[in-house]
Amino acid sequence: MTSSAELHKRRGSAVARGVGSVISSYVDTASGGTLTDVEGRQWIDFAAGIAVTNVGNSAPKVVEAVRAQVERFTHTCFMVAPYESYVAVCEQLNELTPGGFEKRSALFNSGAEAVENAVKIARHATGRPAVVVFDHAYHGRTNLTMALTAKNMPYKHRFGPFAGEIYRVPMSYPLRDGGLDGATAAARAIELVEKQVGAENVAALLIEPIQGEGGFVVPAAGFLPALREWATAAGVVFIADEIQTGFCRTGDWFACQHEGVEPDLITLAKGIAGGLPLAAVTGRAELMDAVHVGGLGGTYGGNPIACAAALASIDTMHELDLAGAARRIEAVLGARLRAIAERDPAIAEVRGRGAMLAVEIVQPGTLTPDPAATAAVSAACHAAGLLTLTCGTYGNVLRFLPPLVIADDELSRAMEILDAAFG
Ligand SMILES: *Cc1c(COP(=O)(O)O)cnc(C)c1O
Repeated sequence: MTSSAELHKRRGSAVARGVGSVISSYVDTASGGTLTDVEGRQWIDFAAGIAVTNVGNSAPKVVEAVRAQVERFTHTCFMVAPYESYVAVCEQLNELTPGGFEKRSALFNSGAEAVENAVKIARHATGRPAVVVFDHAYHGRTNLTMALTAKNMPYKHRFGPFAGEIYRVPMSYPLRDGGLDGATAAARAIELVEKQVGAENVAALLIEPIQGEGGFVVPAAGFLPALREWATAAGVVFIADEIQTGFCRTGDWFACQHEGVEPDLITLAKGIAGGLPLAAVTGRAELMDAVHVGGLGGTYGGNPIACAAALASIDTMHELDLAGAARRIEAVLGARLRAIAERDPAIAEVRGRGAMLAVEIVQPGTLTPDPAATAAVSAACHAAGLLTLTCGTYGNVLRFLPPLVIADDELSRAMEILDAAFG
């Protein structure tokens, strides 16, 4: 088999440099919580393809459903000749997402496309232009979603000009905002919106209930409910971007459920279909159905193979109780991370929910971010066969996103590697 080094060389002269990779080993096969590279080396997967393979890689039911669908038909375009699985996925999403009200869904290809469409729907339904987003937010790499995303490097640098009518306000970030309580942090954000934008101009407030790329920032309790309450009173569409937090990742089907928040619209992707590209907007029927026929869609959105994979993934999440699995991962991995933090003063905080956990790394005794130390720990994990990712505005957050089906022995081995990597 071609070696990783050879593949890397070919890549250099074939693949655009702007597309990076965390590791330079090339994958041969993957299953459950382990990736095997072309040299036969095994990696414990603490990335899950960025919170995508929640049901594991090559999950048996997903493989079977995809195989069966690919033999029946691969594509007709739902906008041309519709099929049942698209409808069935929408029914499932309407049922699973928080909110007891009447809902509708529409399917797309990527998370960014779902966010774009949620903004389209909110603007169309309200007739208002402005969209409120938060510091540290990440919503994608298309023009509108770059504008919605906070961090310049690497996502936005020299890619402007960006879409207008986007307004950014402070997030609740307890470690870095002096521990403001949720209600106070929400009042601070709302006051800025009211003074600088005017509530009556705001179509939507868009927020990740736990920030992903921005650093696994968990807002203080009460922050999301206070924003939800304000949005209702102001006639603003509350959009929860659950693209990274969704599908059992945080120990419940969706992260909003931990605080009883019911979004008007919710954007979904990543964990939805066991690795096949699929995304969705799900929300209040009166908002979703406000758009004229033909106003939403796309050639591939809700592709039948991706829909088959989504139905099989959702089935697997129910059958294996993967929300429960995420809570068990939290108990075991969270305890281990707190034990490491006890002895290592570089860890300012252990945070997250379920199987979406992270440590924020600083210069000991300060809050000064230490991205170099973070990269060094991550590299030590890679050298020992544990695939970890970093994130955060300051690049100083080491995050852990194991597949929810990770085996106990894989998890134990991963924690030993982590423990050693911190020294
Ligand atoms: C990954 C992500 C997106 C973008 O999804 P893509 O499928 O990469 O376009 C949007 N929002 C959040 C919260 C994400 O984590």
